[in-house]
Amino acid sequence: MSLPAELAAELAAREDQGLRRKRRLLSSPQQARVTVDGREYIAFCSNDYLGLAADPRLAAAAKAGIDRYGVGAGASHLILGHSTAHHELEDALAAFVRLPRALLFSTGYMANMGVVGALCGRGDTVFADRLNHASLNDAALVSRAAFKRYAHSDLAALERLLKATPARRKLVIVDAVFSMDGDIAPVPELLELCERHDAYLLIDDAHGFGVLGAQGRGTLAHFGIASERVIYMATLGKAAGVAGAFVAGSAALIETLIQNARPYIYTTATPPLLAHTLLTSLQLIEQENWRRERLDALILQLKQGLAASPWRLLASDTPIQPLLVGDNAAALGLSEQLAAQGLLVPAIRPPTVPQGTARLRISLSADHEAADVAQLVSALLQAA
Ligand code: PMP
Repeated sequence: MSLPAELAAELAAREDQGLRRKRRLLSSPQQARVTVDGREYIAFCSNDYLGLAADPRLAAAAKAGIDRYGVGAGASHLILGHSTAHHELEDALAAFVRLPRALLFSTGYMANMGVVGALCGRGDTVFADRLNHASLNDAALVSRAAFKRYAHSDLAALERLLKATPARRKLVIVDAVFSMDGDIAPVPELLELCERHDAYLLIDDAHGFGVLGAQGRGTLAHFGIASERVIYMATLGKAAGVAGAFVAGSAALIETLIQNARPYIYTTATPPLLAHTLLTSLQLIEQENWRRERLDALILQLKQGLAASPWRLLASDTPIQPLLVGDNAAALGLSEQLAAQGLLVPAIRPPTVPQGTARLRISLSADHEAADVAQLVSALLQAA
């Protein structure tokens, strides 16, 4: 069989299992009301939790960034791509999350690959929650450290693994807010285990940064945690509304990443205009508490509205509100039924989530109105 024929057969098998992924074509900015494949929808699909992705003040900052820095960075950070915009943003991010230093990466995926790869290798062990994001899993696999996964938020299971390991360096890696479930990791308890077993804790706050904690300072602020054992990572393409990611921690950690993190070293720096834009984004995150208050109100409205539905909302207090459907085809069918009524909610299926737990991942944004959530609730109750 030729390669294209072999691939076509594999794709057909995927289609049969209801697992073939398709892209929709978005022709408007990312916001609550979007134009997709030529039609208008209310979307519950984005990670733009604070509704900043299309904010005119960020667009103005981006234009000013172009005027000042041009478009492309033109080089990697270690050659001549590290601009004052990147540097100022690193300082502002470190101050915002109250850690000594921060380092920018082009994406969260690369940040996770960079941290785990720079800190761990053969002879070390990485411990991971089973529901962690794919980028953390990939990072552990590529690092060549031993990779041990424990059942979701099962502290006793993690402790057994920590006790049993002969590893030189131990790194526990965890989503602070689980991306497909919306629940918050037991970070204080994880940190306590790390202290007891001389391990380090990498917290991926992709979905907590900007959303949780006073002024959106993230999961560390939410729990009131400060510890040298913590390595903090957050992304800038979700609540911050732009793109990229950063790692924050001790000065020695950041210097080590600059020397050793391959996804930092061997790639072109992101356009400085984005870093310039993110300085404005950070101010809006800090100042506009109404966005987090609106989110809290919408979360409550959705939970109360769906209490009578036959599907269960997973236990989550974050803007990620997954509605458990179970069967792949049923989840897809429900998503398509909503789309026919002008409501976009993605069906999330294996392998992104475990078999038998296909779901609608409803994500809320401060850009939504109460009327949008009311419309979604009524469409779901009708579909039931
Ligand atoms: N970590 C988590 C928990 C995520 O959900 C994501 C993005 N979906 C990433 C990392 C990757 O971030 P980025 O999109 O910036 O690569």
